[in-house]
Amino acid sequence: MTCKEVQSRYIPFIDDKLSKKELQGFLKHIHSCDKCKEEYDIYYTMITGMRYLEEDNGKSEFKVDSEEKLKFAEEYLIKYRIFFIEKVLLLVILCLIVILFI
Ligand SMILES: [Zn+2]
Repeated sequence: MTCKEVQSRYIPFIDDKLSKKELQGFLKHIHSCDKCKEEYDIYYTMITGMRYLEEDNGKSEFKVDSEEKLKFAEEYLIKYRIFFIEKVLLLVILCLIVILFI
């Protein structure tokens, strides 16, 4: 993913609207590009702050933690990958059972 592509995805990322493939590219780029990481931090702070002001104050806790959001997205991807591996393993085991018993 290029800087430009990443920059157009700050808001979808914050809204959890990126596909898994996009998310992967996004996170990879953010970790290797200081410029985009810095910009992402600014966007995140701005957008969450703005949304907080639009909502009833005190209703939701105000959190400006762009770092946490990145970590959460990474954990989500890791979990998804583990889940995927589990599914593949299950399929292999099923195939083995079929081969052995038929
Ligand atoms: Zn970049």
